[in-house]
Amino acid sequence: MPTRAPENGAGVALTIGQHAPKRALDADWILVHELFHIGVPSFIGEGKWLDEGLATYYEPIIRARLGALTELEVWSEFARNMPRARK
Ligand SMILES: [Zn+2]
Repeated sequence: MPTRAPENGAGVALTIGQHAPKRALDADWILVHELFHIGVPSFIGEGKWLDEGLATYYEPIIRARLGALTELEVWSEFARNMPRARK
């Protein structure tokens, strides 16, 4: 089924295969990340990094609050990935 980009304002086009396994959907982080972008004002120019930083930071926290990740998984992800921002 073809998808269309939103014509007015922010939006997310979501295509899910009818046979997509539940474990794959539970493990997916992209939808939460993209929906976060819709709910938070966007910056222009030099502030764009803050858009991605906020979405990247809050995505695992939101998923943990939903029960999709444990607190340990969130902190492990932070410990593993945050040092990459210094490069
Ligand atoms: Zn993003």
